[in-house]
Amino acid sequence: MKTFEELGIAPEILQAIQELGYENPTPVQEEVIPYLLQGKNTDLIALAQTGTGKTAAFGLPILQDIDKKIKQPQALVLCPTRELCLQIAGDLTDYSKYINDLKILPVYGGSSIESQIRTLKKGVHIVVATPGRLIDLINRKTVKLDAIRNVIMDEADEMLNMGFSESIDAILAEVPKEKNTLLFSATMPKEIARITKKYMKEAVEITIGSKNEGAKNVKHIYYMVHARDKYLALKRVADYYPNIYGIIFCRTRKET
Ligand code: AMP
Repeated sequence: MKTFEELGIAPEILQAIQELGYENPTPVQEEVIPYLLQGKNTDLIALAQTGTGKTAAFGLPILQDIDKKIKQPQALVLCPTRELCLQIAGDLTDYSKYINDLKILPVYGGSSIESQIRTLKKGVHIVVATPGRLIDLINRKTVKLDAIRNVIMDEADEMLNMGFSESIDAILAEVPKEKNTLLFSATMPKEIARITKKYMKEAVEITIGSKNEGAKNVKHIYYMVHARDKYLALKRVADYYPNIYGIIFCRTRKET
């Protein structure tokens, strides 16, 4: 196993992550960091779940690649939700604690676009965005993407599930051809394969852990019922197992 130092992480970033308690790289970091640090036009598809240390895997190398003198976005991180957007921007801020004047901006819907535009005008080095809001900013010509050298798509499968496919297409059409593209996904549906084929060249694919892995001591059972019988079926399962504890995931607020 290599250390962060051996992977080529710069001293000011090393200091920040050591303070966070990161002693050694996780497997995804060990694989991804050298790819991104090695230079230009690297396209990488990483099948990795949340909790594997993905954020630092892409975050440390993109921070290290920023030229602060260029007051334009040089790295773009796309992610599906406002929560993830804020979390990634927060992590990047922690990792860059000892790099002065590095500007990271989270950009997501539901917050003031005017304030995001004002910050962009002052000069931002890294943009972490949900696709819909970024498209809005592109259409208003308030964000320039022609200095981008690293594009990260985090939780790409979730972004597609949320209907961001067209937005992603439009965003990828705006960034320079010469760049690194890194796509993270927990699963590899057909639509992801389409995006990687269209926008990535000879991408290297790495898998962290095994694909779609489930815990060995967990049984998966499903019942096929009509939508209108869902609630009754659920009640019957609960009645049948009176000591059941569970979590029910729903798609909509109303349903919940
Ligand atoms: P992520 O998959 O990026 O959401 O990271 C999952 C958690 O692991 C976060 O709480 C990180 O702060 C933590 N983490 C990431 N890399 C390391 C590391 N090399 N050593 C210890 N903790 C880490």
